Amino acid sequence: MNGAELAAYAAHDARTRGRRHPEPPPQYRSEFQRDRDRIIHSNAFRRLAYKTQVFVNHEGDLYRTRVTHSSEVAQIGRSIARALALNETLTEAIALAHDLGHTPFGHAGQDALNDCMRAHGGFEHNLQSLRTVDELEERYAQFPGLNLTFECREGILKHCAVSKARELGELGERFLQRRQSGLEAQLANLADEIAYNNHDVDDGIRAGLISLEAVVEVPLLRRQFDQVMRLYPDLQGRRRVHETVRRMVNEVVIDVIESSLARLRAAAPADIEQVRSQPAPLIGMSEPMREQHLQLKQFLREQVYRHQRVLRMTTKARRVVSQLFAAFMDDIKLLPAEYRDGALRAEGRDGIAGRARTVADYIAGMTDRYAILEHRRLFDPAERT
Ligand code: MG
Repeated sequence: MNGAELAAYAAHDARTRGRRHPEPPPQYRSEFQRDRDRIIHSNAFRRLAYKTQVFVNHEGDLYRTRVTHSSEVAQIGRSIARALALNETLTEAIALAHDLGHTPFGHAGQDALNDCMRAHGGFEHNLQSLRTVDELEERYAQFPGLNLTFECREGILKHCAVSKARELGELGERFLQRRQSGLEAQLANLADEIAYNNHDVDDGIRAGLISLEAVVEVPLLRRQFDQVMRLYPDLQGRRRVHETVRRMVNEVVIDVIESSLARLRAAAPADIEQVRSQPAPLIGMSEPMREQHLQLKQFLREQVYRHQRVLRMTTKARRVVSQLFAAFMDDIKLLPAEYRDGALRAEGRDGIAGRARTVADYIAGMTDRYAILEHRRLFDPAERT
């Protein structure tokens, strides 16, 4: 993006706080284009195709995977970024990277791994996304990880406990000093929420967990649904669902653009540093919209995430993750050679917590189907090892 099109408060290429390992500027790309391109070429990004959030990967081809979720986050984020004259490329990069550290089996996997890691420093997917781009990716001769810009890394680290923030140097400062992230980071974060509330309605209906009739009891959808029915009284099936959901997303996006613009005008930050020192984020929904969005979230929690069919699946997922963890902790010879050697080195350095961290890295990197296969290979004597 041409710097002249950007607002003063956006992240500007020329004023990036830079990379952990200094590199000459890219020749024909911007710094944030380079970040985005590195993310797209990473192993962790490709694995997102086989990781899921609510529905396990093999349930059907039409459900969102982490990679299609990340693309939807990027799409929503980019639309809003452009309307607010923010850095569209940086917003896209953060959106594409935000879930790189996710375990297999979505939140069930993350909770199970966090339980396993409780005595060893815990496991948090946000921190793991950062760890993935800072250390785990092995693609460059001169540095570990992807060596992304500070602005992209601050966006990936959405939240962070104070105890962890102390270990993170300048990236952790904002959590200790209660400062804000840049606007592109705030935006990618919000786009994530908008994206999953939208697609979990869609996927929930597709899976037969909820009906359109039930979900339109939520005020945010009610308005859209009534309007669709007024305009197209004969509309049926998928088109009726999609027409309703797409209008809802549109309304939320417009609300975010208008409320954020109003806040930006009122605060009038001169640059990204002034954005960071604001008492609260400047990107956000209006109060009534936030309220309605919360009602939708609540509905999804009760009707979709705690649906008996989802619970049965998440119980299995938790079992797979915790049994894999226990087996590898018990005997690191069961790990693939590179992880076994890594575990030995980490244990020599950090004791048992080092071994646990390597095991957690291995499990977190697994796709849904790889975790299922690896579990079978370890626990089913009939399976080839
Ligand atoms: Mg997400």
